[in-house]
Amino acid sequence: ITKNKLGLTAKILLGMLLGVILGLLLRNLFPGSEWVETYLTKGLLHVIGTIFISSLKMLVVPLVFVSLVCGTCSLSEPSKLGRLGGKTLLFYLFTTAIALSVAILAAIVIHPGNASMVTENMSFSAKIAPSLADVIINIVPTNPLKAMSQGNMLQIIIFAVIFGFAIAHIGERGRRVARLFDDLNEVIMRVVTLVMQLAPYGVFALMAKLSLTLGVETFGSVVKYFFVVLGVLLIHAFVVYPTLLKTFSGLSPITFMRKMRDVQLFAFSTASSNATLPVTIETAEHRLGVDNKIASFTLPLGATINMDGTAIMQGVATVFIAQVFGIELTITDYITVVVTATLASIGTAGVPGVGLIMLAMVLNQVGLPVEGIALIIGVDRLLDMVRTAVNVTGDTVATLVIAKSEEGFNQDTFHNPDAGRVAP
Ligand code: ASP
Repeated sequence: ITKNKLGLTAKILLGMLLGVILGLLLRNLFPGSEWVETYLTKGLLHVIGTIFISSLKMLVVPLVFVSLVCGTCSLSEPSKLGRLGGKTLLFYLFTTAIALSVAILAAIVIHPGNASMVTENMSFSAKIAPSLADVIINIVPTNPLKAMSQGNMLQIIIFAVIFGFAIAHIGERGRRVARLFDDLNEVIMRVVTLVMQLAPYGVFALMAKLSLTLGVETFGSVVKYFFVVLGVLLIHAFVVYPTLLKTFSGLSPITFMRKMRDVQLFAFSTASSNATLPVTIETAEHRLGVDNKIASFTLPLGATINMDGTAIMQGVATVFIAQVFGIELTITDYITVVVTATLASIGTAGVPGVGLIMLAMVLNQVGLPVEGIALIIGVDRLLDMVRTAVNVTGDTVATLVIAKSEEGFNQDTFHNPDAGRVAP
């Protein structure tokens, strides 16, 4: 096979691998070199990597808005919309609860925390979390354009749903507007496939930069924590999700996983569910056969509130920090951890590293020292990448299950291995 014949997935993997090799080589050949830092880490690699992520993020707001307006236009009855919303939320909560239970159980059984790890100079200052009332009030935007310019996903979702709903209820004029949005949707999807072509280079730069800057030294003491989180993430992705998919929709997990590879690679290399959203929606609609009216609603919502991978990290981290500080957790504490970590993962924005910040909320709630976060911050970047891949996989599993039950699913697309494949 010549290089040009490689598919996109293979190219991304190659980019990743070459990036890591280059990073490690430079790191060992020129340790602490200033020109590597100036021209590569903070220069070329930084520029290419950031442009790649920016071009993905650039699509998120227009894509979510246009796609969701299209989706709600075709879901004109309030009862349908309500049922879809209810089912989606329920499924998201259900998977997060499973994720947390497995995570906490694993952390208790394997017991990664060792009380001798506490050091004097640990510090981590937490942001103040907003009150529940504010969280609820803030769902409704005061200014939709402001919501869009700030990328406030829940507010955009609310506005798009109301807007699309109105379009469906004004007869012929509404149909004209709906057609316009349909066409716009096609245009944006096309831009998504264009941007996806940049991925191999973007991923190469991101991985090279990461392997140049990641501190290997930090691994030592938290190795066990790292592997417990990683293990539970892998179990969730490769055992729990396939089982749920098979049980609730009867679809083949193997076909699903094969078609999800690009989405997972994007999520892994960007560590952001939001930035991956264009690729997730594209894949769900064109490769997995999910109807736009379902995918346009469940996926943006999932990228915003459904973070099973993040919940897993928060569950293990809480138990780990308690163990390190020699604090016994009671059954009530564990229940508190499940409830607050569910809320914290819902509150986690789909951008890199936020899961760790929201962990402060869980620690506060069970009365554990927030400085504990300093212990695990060193390995969080890698875990962030893996948990983001889990997060987007969870969103897509839920989307498929719901699409199947709402008759918004195309069997032929799902089973056709070449459906919607991005041309290399
Ligand atoms: N990076 C994660 C995501 O975008 C969120 C987190 O856990 O920090 O899904």
